[in-house]
Amino acid sequence: MDFNKHSIRLVQQCPVCERKYHEERVQIIDEQGNSFLAYMTCTFCQSNIIVRVISMPQGLVGSAILTDLTPEEVLKFSHEENIKANDILSVHEINKKGNIIETINNLN
Ligand SMILES: [Zn+2]
Repeated sequence: MDFNKHSIRLVQQCPVCERKYHEERVQIIDEQGNSFLAYMTCTFCQSNIIVRVISMPQGLVGSAILTDLTPEEVLKFSHEENIKANDILSVHEINKKGNIIETINNLN
């Protein structure tokens, strides 16, 4: 696939302050098969959004979400494995014991 910054025309303005994005502030942080992940920071209000763009036969389809994450964190989480039912159950088990914050802190 040949993605370039013009593919991001799908998102032309900041969803928060509605000003136009500057193309130079768009970073393509990941590319997989027929989709890519772009990260944009609004030069006016500093809001960050992540845009996932997928190339479909009928054209490019994109979805955008606001984020507090840095581009590096977005990339890290986009490569993590999906959450499984067992993960939810173990969180539930820990939560029942009432020490979930402590347990999470001990993971790091
Ligand atoms: Zn903005």
